[in-house]
Amino acid sequence: MNDTTILIIYTGGTIGMIKDHETGLLKPFNFDNLYSYIPVLKDFNYNIEAVSFDPLIDSSNINPSHWAKLVEIIFENYESYDGFVVLHGSDTMAYTASALSFMLENLNKPVIITGSQLPLGELRTDGRENFITAVEIAASKIDDTPVVPEVCVYFENRLYRGNRTYKFNAENFNAFVSGNYPVLADAGMNLKFYHERILKPNFKKLKTHYDFSNDIAILKLFPGMSENYINAILNIDGLRAVILESFGSGNATTESWFLDKLQSSISAGLLVINVTQCLSGSVDMTKYETGKRLLDIGVISGKDITTAAALAKLMMLLAEYSDKEIIIEKFNKVFCGEFSE
Ligand code: ASP
Repeated sequence: MNDTTILIIYTGGTIGMIKDHETGLLKPFNFDNLYSYIPVLKDFNYNIEAVSFDPLIDSSNINPSHWAKLVEIIFENYESYDGFVVLHGSDTMAYTASALSFMLENLNKPVIITGSQLPLGELRTDGRENFITAVEIAASKIDDTPVVPEVCVYFENRLYRGNRTYKFNAENFNAFVSGNYPVLADAGMNLKFYHERILKPNFKKLKTHYDFSNDIAILKLFPGMSENYINAILNIDGLRAVILESFGSGNATTESWFLDKLQSSISAGLLVINVTQCLSGSVDMTKYETGKRLLDIGVISGKDITTAAALAKLMMLLAEYSDKEIIIEKFNKVFCGEFSE
């Protein structure tokens, strides 16, 4: 056995399910018996250990308390392991990946999140390859330095920066996309890392953040939306920030009932961040009149950040700071590759 140590954290989701041959039903995998389910893992010669959430959770039930639990496990085991593999349902994986990337400041080790569309116990499962390759990526080092010291999503032969991902397909094995940042690695016959795209370790001490505020809403625009819809959201009691999911390159209707309400909310202290509904491309509020009007009333550009990353970053900043200007200043800084400069 070489001295590489990997910690698997199973939170729940399809990947950890196997078929009970007596009942024909799916039941959770017992990670204490990891090597008996996937004996080939022994060939790595790593020291692999596993912990499971109890209870296991379908990722649709994920909330910031589960993110805090994950970060706590990583923090407590940080010195003892070379890398971490988080097994997670795919439904909200992009949110968890985004949250973890901000919660683990100065991360210098790999945190590879993966899952699957079919349970590990199914013959045609995609989970087996996802799992084994995620372990290999988490263990990859050059000159004793981890190759991927960031929070990533690994799915169907591709390694993505976690806070750039979207789940875009509910059925295909190829379920994730990173529309605004290229893949960090391709897994074919060999693992091909694109080193120039991967964050460099800063060798600083890991600093963890645990608090999230949910005084936030996502306001998705659609043609024909009513004034009631806009008012209902902007009048939420205690609301401090809104992620405005706009059209195309950051455009919205110029109808006065909309702009006036948004403007009065901003003047009253609401922070509004503009992200595009598109899976790729950036907000640019200087292109069209319909974007320019938003800029004029004080809407902040989210540039090419994903909705999930904007949400996680803002929830954390809202919990840590009360001053709107400071939150804007921090939001506009790239923390860990979440938007392009
Ligand atoms: N509903 C499941 C979950 O997200 C699907 C999956 O495991 O991918 O937890």
